[in-house]
Amino acid sequence: MNTFSVKAFGTEAPEADLKQLTIERREVSDRDVEIDIIFCGVCHSDLHTARNEWHGTVYPNVPGHEIVGRITKIGKGVSKFKVGDIAAVGCMVDSCRECEQCKKGSEQYCEKGNIQTYNGHDKHLNKQTFGGYSERIVVEEDFVLRVPENLDLAATAPLLCAGVTTWSPLKHWNVGPGTRVGVVGIGGLGHMGVKLAKAMGAYVVVITTSSSKVADAQRLGADEVILSTDEAQMKANVNTLNFVLDCVSAQHNINDYLALLKVDGTLALVGAPEHPLPVAAFSLIPTRRSFAGSTIGSIAETQEMLDFCGKHNITSDIELINIQDINTAYERLLKGDVKYRFVIDMASLKR
Ligand code: NAP
Ligand code: ZN
Ligand code: ZN
Repeated sequence: MNTFSVKAFGTEAPEADLKQLTIERREVSDRDVEIDIIFCGVCHSDLHTARNEWHGTVYPNVPGHEIVGRITKIGKGVSKFKVGDIAAVGCMVDSCRECEQCKKGSEQYCEKGNIQTYNGHDKHLNKQTFGGYSERIVVEEDFVLRVPENLDLAATAPLLCAGVTTWSPLKHWNVGPGTRVGVVGIGGLGHMGVKLAKAMGAYVVVITTSSSKVADAQRLGADEVILSTDEAQMKANVNTLNFVLDCVSAQHNINDYLALLKVDGTLALVGAPEHPLPVAAFSLIPTRRSFAGSTIGSIAETQEMLDFCGKHNITSDIELINIQDINTAYERLLKGDVKYRFVIDMASLKR
């Protein structure tokens, strides 16, 4: 298979900084589109993977799965896109397409494992996939999304992971008018969870460890804010929520958050800390609570979420950075020092 070289930013070892690398992309085949990447969001999963916190990272690793760009080339069998279109790519670039989950349009739960945009197995080149911290990407059109024309492109990039990862569980657990939803951890995912749950009509309660985010939470759409480091505030809110979306990237006592659920309530984890989170039996038994998880969202859900955001004028709150500042951005992400998503201006890689 013919390939071409592109500039990228990635890492060669768990402890190493990200630096400029050269990677190979395949030339477009029949159903592929080639995208010149304009913006790429910085997800905490990029950091977990670059540093091998979930184990199984194959090096070199080029992160980035919140990709927005312009189509520069299409294969002759491509029907949904044309050269010059703005297009987006999220966390997956392929799946088996044959299993029960793929057939019903839940490719993210592909029984053989979806093919992630980075650190997945690229069946075309028989090596690891490389993500959006790069000049260009080649993806089969079925895994490429349309971007509503009214949205700011840089602020749209985070919707491709942070948006759909919060949208999918909010829809799955029927969040809407009459539901009291808690969103824990107001980073990239959490702040999108707040905006989306509010637009879906829910009563939204932000639960944060950061006093600096209390005032901001209302602007994002919160009806109430709980500062989780204040024991009295947490106690006062026991048994009050129908659903909790946990977007926390680090170790935390999950039992404190399960306690906020009413009888039959569900806490869904989307945050993926490196180590297990011990659950006390009595956090669940006396109240028939459920402890659940959810991964990203399907291609159809991603498009549905993008269209919803277009209609409701919802984007991410971002801080635009140059790719050369990515290592500092990771350090700031670890401190919770971002309101609320770093987005890389990919023009900086070309300079
Ligand atoms: P992020 O921007 O770094 O936000 C994480 C937030 O967690 C922080 O802003 C902070 O919010 C809170 N937090 C951090 N340390 C904490 C601690 N020790 N105790 C309590 N809260 C703490 O990260 P992100 O990009 O939104 O990603 C969040 C997590 O979701 C990551 O683990 C990421 O890998 C995972 N993720 C999962 C999926 C999926 O498919 N399930 C998809 C994307 C990302 P406050 O300041 O408000 O407390
Ligand atoms: Zn992500
Ligand atoms: Zn499948």
